[in-house]
Amino acid sequence: AAKQAGHNNFSWFTLDLQLAAQVRRTLINDLRGALAADQLRVYYQPIIDLQSGAIVKAEALLRWQHGSRGLISPAVFIPLAEEVGLIEEIGDWVFRTAARQARTWHDQGHTLQVSINKSPRQFGGDGSGNTWLAFLKELNLEPRQLVIEITEGLLLDQRSTVTEQLLGYRDAGMEIAVDDFGTGYSALSYLQRFDIDYLKIDRSFIKDLTESADDRALADAIIVMAHKLGLKVIAEGVETAPQRDWLIGAGCDYAQGFLYSRPVPVDEFNALLRRG
Ligand code: C2E
Ligand code: MG
Ligand code: MG
Ligand code: MG
Repeated sequence: AAKQAGHNNFSWFTLDLQLAAQVRRTLINDLRGALAADQLRVYYQPIIDLQSGAIVKAEALLRWQHGSRGLISPAVFIPLAEEVGLIEEIGDWVFRTAARQARTWHDQGHTLQVSINKSPRQFGGDGSGNTWLAFLKELNLEPRQLVIEITEGLLLDQRSTVTEQLLGYRDAGMEIAVDDFGTGYSALSYLQRFDIDYLKIDRSFIKDLTESADDRALADAIIVMAHKLGLKVIAEGVETAPQRDWLIGAGCDYAQGFLYSRPVPVDEFNALLRRG
């Protein structure tokens, strides 16, 4: 069913978790042609330095403007792309698009890191770690201008391709963030093994921060632990000023959320940068 969710005035196509088989097949088929049909877009959401209030990073978030169903959420189509092996091609496209944008912002004089999601299925044996680094060479872009966002579970993934790619990124100088931190199996010793730079506290802990003493205790513990390990903390899903104020008081480093801006197209992001 298409539902008006108010995101950037688009109508979002949403589905139950258990997609009807017929709809799934149709969507998967449409997704195969989405790149060629130029229906994919990369939006950017600002990440704010809580000390200075400045926009210091931009998370690249994929959008699918479907021909007839409107805007489809990545929460719906990324799992489908993973399931049928389309995520590598789509993920490579996102990477190149976002890296080119990072190059453009750099050329315009902005000191802005671009953060890119990479799901476990994208850490297969095709050596995309190397092709990504090679593309940065081509662009003449410093790897440290980019952050790769991985999931907590990836740190426990035993595949040699995972270790190789993560260490390859780290050695090249790319930064690494653990996304949705606190929702999976926490592999604390691996944070240092891979020299992780950022923990992103999952939105579910931020949502009730001002009402729930338990959530405050968890957020506080994550921030203290991260800092002791030499990592910086990004709070996800910050929607209200009281949440932001609590996070500043707790010593959180960065925040991202609707309080500042939803994910937006490049033009709108540039307007946010101009406003400062
Ligand atoms: P994520 O990486 O954790 O991204 C953050 C999600 O939280 C985004 O959802 C963003 O729109 C949403 N969000 C940000 N601030 C707020 C807030 O204040 N309140 C609420 N309620 N939500 C907020 P989005 O864009 O729908 O993406 C969902 C997930 O899809 C992402 O979660 C990520 O796991 C995946 N994804 C998106 N783009 C890509 C991509 O290019 N590659 C891969 N592998 N995964 C992607
Ligand atoms: Mg992310
Ligand atoms: Mg590092
Ligand atoms: Mg997240």
